[in-house]
Amino acid sequence: MSATEITDLSAAEAPLLVTEIPGPEAAARIERDRRVTSPSLPRAYPFVPRRGSGSVVEDVDGNLFLDLNAGIAVASTGHAHPKVVEAIKRQAESLIHYSASDFYLPIYAEVCEQLDRISPMSGPTRAFLTNSGTEAVEGALKLARYHTGRQYVIAMIGSFHGRSYGSVSLTASKVKYRANFGPMLPGVFHTYFGDFEHIESVLFQHLVAPHEVAAIVVEPILGEGGYVPPPEGWFPYLRELCDRHGILLVADEVQSGMGRTGMMWAIQHFGVEPDILLAGKGIASGMPLGAFVAREDLMTWEVGAHGSTYAGNPLSCAAALATIELIEGGLMDNATAVGRALMDGLRGLQARHEIIREVRGLGLMIGIEFPSHDVASAVEQTAFHKGLLVLGCGERAIRMSPPLVFREDQARTALALFEEAVADVERGT
Ligand code: PLP
Repeated sequence: MSATEITDLSAAEAPLLVTEIPGPEAAARIERDRRVTSPSLPRAYPFVPRRGSGSVVEDVDGNLFLDLNAGIAVASTGHAHPKVVEAIKRQAESLIHYSASDFYLPIYAEVCEQLDRISPMSGPTRAFLTNSGTEAVEGALKLARYHTGRQYVIAMIGSFHGRSYGSVSLTASKVKYRANFGPMLPGVFHTYFGDFEHIESVLFQHLVAPHEVAAIVVEPILGEGGYVPPPEGWFPYLRELCDRHGILLVADEVQSGMGRTGMMWAIQHFGVEPDILLAGKGIASGMPLGAFVAREDLMTWEVGAHGSTYAGNPLSCAAALATIELIEGGLMDNATAVGRALMDGLRGLQARHEIIREVRGLGLMIGIEFPSHDVASAVEQTAFHKGLLVLGCGERAIRMSPPLVFREDQARTALALFEEAVADVERGT
């Protein structure tokens, strides 16, 4: 059966390649795209998706790919999960938009109630919904400055927080995100992810007084910067440091949250509560939504201090409610189980292939380190031509962040294809 005749993509044997890659339709689409889109868009490879279901995506030529990107950690419940689709449809038929900033949208408050319930903070919280991860970062920055009356912020080298001015000022994963855009937001200092000394012995001694620091903003697991978990004890150390100096600990869980690591929030693996939590990406299965969730006592800003026309729109909220139910209803556990199988398999590959330097991660957030950027990139491209979608991160790593519906049989297929790609690159083919 050709891919285009398959109606239930999620159950299809994937990958299934029926043309050269990219196929003729993909090549034509790319040509059209290149004439009119911003050249800043960082396209990883010539993949042109048409439809998706579960962890399978069909391209415009009818080729089926096994998706370990999930649209960059966004399609948490899989592509087009029927319950999410149904929730969006139902909501679209009753109300597509009314600004939740200026009026009272019941579904907006319902999402905030759910975030309060599932947040990693033990006390009550309040949430502000956004359209994206970067807006969640901006809002948290503003709130931290507003509430503390302090101007300075500390972020991590290797971190990614987005591309608007506040968030890109925190971002320090790759210089290209900052080059030619300066000056950045003033008042941002950077330290090293996982370092137990630099903040106190360098920043606090030479550059900024701790009582002037509003927040430390940190990803519990570095995302775009390489899928790097922190060393043992580092989050408790940061928590204690923040408590000692009245600094807010802001956990950016835009990529690591929503069940991806096998717990709702990655920071829960480290036994620490943040003061402000940032969510995005997988929160609404692909509908644009983000959030910053703060301890109730921090939300001291006055009426009008922050708002947004579209943010927390009803369609995204409906998708988020369905998504949270699905993640709690089994997908988080699936991330643990299938993540373990994938990780074990990758460790086996590491034992057989010298170019795999490290395999790391939690749940379905897995990074594989190679000797150089060129090798990682060659593996990524070769995997694509075999029908396996993975994406580079950090300087020389590949990330695997499949939908949380990813199955063990799909993990086995992915491992076999990934090993073929690694072996091809090793042989120089
Ligand atoms: N924070 C983290 C940890 C991210 O990984 C990203 C995006 O990759 C962002 C923030 C920015 O999110 P968005 O692209 O939705 O603005």
